[in-house]
Amino acid sequence: MNNRKPMGLREFQRLIESIYYRKDKARGLHGTYFWFAEEVGELTRALRRGERGRQEEEFADVLAWLSTLASIQGVDLERAARRKYGKGCPYCHATPCACPDPGAKPRQKKVLRRNKTG
Ligand SMILES: [Zn+2]
Repeated sequence: MNNRKPMGLREFQRLIESIYYRKDKARGLHGTYFWFAEEVGELTRALRRGERGRQEEEFADVLAWLSTLASIQGVDLERAARRKYGKGCPYCHATPCACPDPGAKPRQKKVLRRNKTG
């Protein structure tokens, strides 16, 4: 593969499919999701520790596992991303987003719920 040629999301998904789809499909959604979650954990660790080289590797792994999950579910990642974000923020429709404080409300609700149950 030519390393200097730009690679779109669809092309990346096809690449990951050609390398891993058979194994990932056989493992199934749940087993593959666990691998994805594990890679997110590894990315978290690399971010926390400020390990720059490691972060790059883990971002690639998370994207690859996300991509393979989409393939197992028959989701075209590029189309899905374009549909949701292709016209800017899906909520205020602006680029850059002009929402007052994105994500603040749901996060606050979760915290309140957690505090009620102890
Ligand atoms: Zn917005």
